[in-house]
Amino acid sequence: MNELSRHPVAPQKLYIDGAWEEGAGETQDVLSPINGQTLTTTIRASKADVDRAVAAARRAFEDGRWSRAAPAVRKKVLHKLADLIEEHALELAVLGVRDNGTEIGMAIKAEPGSAAGTFRYYAEALDKVYGEVAPTAENVLGLVHKEPVGVVGAIVPWNFPLMIGAWKLAPALAAGNSVVLKPAETASLTLLRIAELASEAGLPDGVLNVVTGEGAVTGEALAMSMDVDVLVFTGSGGVGRRLLEYSARSNLKRCYLELGGKSPNIVFADAPDLEAAAKVSAAGIFRNAGQVCIAGSRLLVEDSVHDEFVEALTRHAAAMQVGNPLELSTNIGAVNNLPQLEGNLGFVTKALEEGADLALGGARVMQDTGGWYMEPTVLTGVQPAHNVAQNEVFGPVLAVTRFSSDEEAVRIANSTNYGLSAGVWTSNLSRAHKMVRSVQAGVVHVNTYGGADNSVPLGGVKQSGNGHDKSMHAFDKYFDLKTAWISL
Ligand code: NAD
Repeated sequence: MNELSRHPVAPQKLYIDGAWEEGAGETQDVLSPINGQTLTTTIRASKADVDRAVAAARRAFEDGRWSRAAPAVRKKVLHKLADLIEEHALELAVLGVRDNGTEIGMAIKAEPGSAAGTFRYYAEALDKVYGEVAPTAENVLGLVHKEPVGVVGAIVPWNFPLMIGAWKLAPALAAGNSVVLKPAETASLTLLRIAELASEAGLPDGVLNVVTGEGAVTGEALAMSMDVDVLVFTGSGGVGRRLLEYSARSNLKRCYLELGGKSPNIVFADAPDLEAAAKVSAAGIFRNAGQVCIAGSRLLVEDSVHDEFVEALTRHAAAMQVGNPLELSTNIGAVNNLPQLEGNLGFVTKALEEGADLALGGARVMQDTGGWYMEPTVLTGVQPAHNVAQNEVFGPVLAVTRFSSDEEAVRIANSTNYGLSAGVWTSNLSRAHKMVRSVQAGVVHVNTYGGADNSVPLGGVKQSGNGHDKSMHAFDKYFDLKTAWISL
């Protein structure tokens, strides 16, 4: 790993129609969050570059080199890609950590490990999804075909680029679509490498294209394209809204949005093991420096155990090692970029102005490294209306609020515009099920926080999004239904 982490990273190009290109040629420096130093450069793809990628994807789709390939062929290629991701897991994990700052222990599992599993899941699924014969009258035959939609545009964020990229790429490709992928400008390296591995696995040219660059230029060009049929997105609510506008102003492409969260983690006094709950809850907000869409960023604690629980959680949080994400001992890696770090600190300042108390952390650390690091931060006495209780920080900042009844816990839990994830800690089975029903969220964890696999969907309600990734439910986004109505 040490050697890999010192390896120079070659200047990156665009991957279009099975070849590396320099596009219009403008580049941007990729700064590593570990030390703020330039790691390499990526291309800022222009609108013309994006149009070329979309045209290549369309050509590949229309001539059927992948869209009409036998399911067994597609399955084999996607399994081979999963094999290659596993073979290159350490290389991909280290490259990703140098690019985005996630601690290596988490990155190995969550990035190549998870991505390989997602490609396998949809490789296995692709020949188990097929059409229907409708129950029509005797003199007609009604058939419902499932067809790939065409060209999929995928725009993804920087927190888990490979895992989230695979959540889009695997079902899109398994269904027979062509894809143009735009990674986040501060985390593109592993997804560029995936394009190369996909080609090595036998994916035909033009089926997967990767264009890097700024959201407002490269992302906008993709979202405004008249020849992209479906846009799948993970990122912030603000950009999600723009994508809906772009769709309305272009070709009404379908947009599936996975957005942010302000997820409540609710601890009742009858939790089976408060100490264990405190440890898991600390990990549930602070791993990957809080840059996790489902992070349990609001901790709601029942009055009678509030002080005891906050003390335990703060103790566990303080024991988490902030450090160089390439060290195996690190529990909390770097913040992905400097504006994000400054935003995190701004949330803390504002919370203190609004009357919250600082129980732990609150500051930037390890500044001498040149990197972007922040202590795990616990704010107590946060009121539901406070800025830090209403808005996503996407950093290592936990807002703690008390409650004294089940009804109050539900009211506070549901008092934001978000609805991505939640946690409930209780020994009372009936209370657990009632909370699962009442809390508005796409996933409710009971007596744990985080954890999932490809078999269950991830998606939000309210302003956390309008679609799901993972599971067979997510597969539907990548198919069109076509009816054949045949007179007999
Ligand atoms: P972001 O919205 O700033 O960027 C996401 C992507 O959109 C990037 O690739 C960016 O370049 C692109 N983009 C930006 N402006 C654009 C524009 N005008 N047109 C087209 N594309 C544009 O988000 P981020 O900061 O990269 O990621 C953090 C956000 O992602 C958080 O809100 C987090 O909660 C969310 N997230 C959600 C999930 C989920 O599954 N719901 C998972 C991970 C992250």
